[in-house]
Amino acid sequence: MKYKRILLKLSGEALMGNRQYGIDNDRLKAYAAEIKKVVDMGCEVAIVIGGGNIFRGLAGAAKGMDRVQGDYMGMLATVINGMALQGALEDAGIHTRLQSAIEMDKVAEPFIKRKATRHLEKGRVVIFGAGTGNPYFTTDTAATLRAIEIGADVILKGTRVDGIYDSDPEKNADAVKFNSLTFDEVYAKDLKVMDMTAFTLSHENKLPIIVFDMNREGNLKRVVEGEKVGTLVGL
Ligand code: UDP
Repeated sequence: MKYKRILLKLSGEALMGNRQYGIDNDRLKAYAAEIKKVVDMGCEVAIVIGGGNIFRGLAGAAKGMDRVQGDYMGMLATVINGMALQGALEDAGIHTRLQSAIEMDKVAEPFIKRKATRHLEKGRVVIFGAGTGNPYFTTDTAATLRAIEIGADVILKGTRVDGIYDSDPEKNADAVKFNSLTFDEVYAKDLKVMDMTAFTLSHENKLPIIVFDMNREGNLKRVVEGEKVGTLVGL
């Protein structure tokens, strides 16, 4: 096992599967099964999940809604996704805790770093909901922040493409994939890995990022074992 403690970032959209909105139960189950494989290996797993399958603050603002109000709605959406994922993980026999950046003690613990790391040491999967708890941020930034706080070895960005390309592989058949990149190369080539706030935070704290295809069976385990899957961004 190459990475002992990981922060897995899943987008809300990933949970939609082939649907247009909301949560696809089969996709949820498949993710739980993938996560179980690495938990069974003794890997400590923390997860940040997005909310884009339900609500994004920017989309609300584009229709005239107050941005801050919309961002809080987006943060609550991530808690809904976190609860759904928690249920699927528990159904798969994994012990979990959900910690929220916005306090809601009926459904989640408040985010407390010491508690989170203790849960991880005990083999529980910790899901961080409500992003950073602040508007104008994204769950990529929340993922990076939490990864640094809990001392994760790496941030694993599970997507539906198998890494970082020089152009959008879903639009351009000639797009070329990078196996690894330095942070400086990402800036120089103007590649989209995460939003700039999240990316800079990773860079400044020397936290490597791996972008990989989470929908391919066994991929998460391969990444944790150190196989060259996806694209690694490091120093
Ligand atoms: N959000 C926020 N602060 C945070 C994290 C998220 O305001 O720290 C809001 C923001 O409106 C965002 C929404 O929650 O659009 C859902 O998160 P995100 O877009 O990152 O989800 P993803 O694209 O990963 O599904």
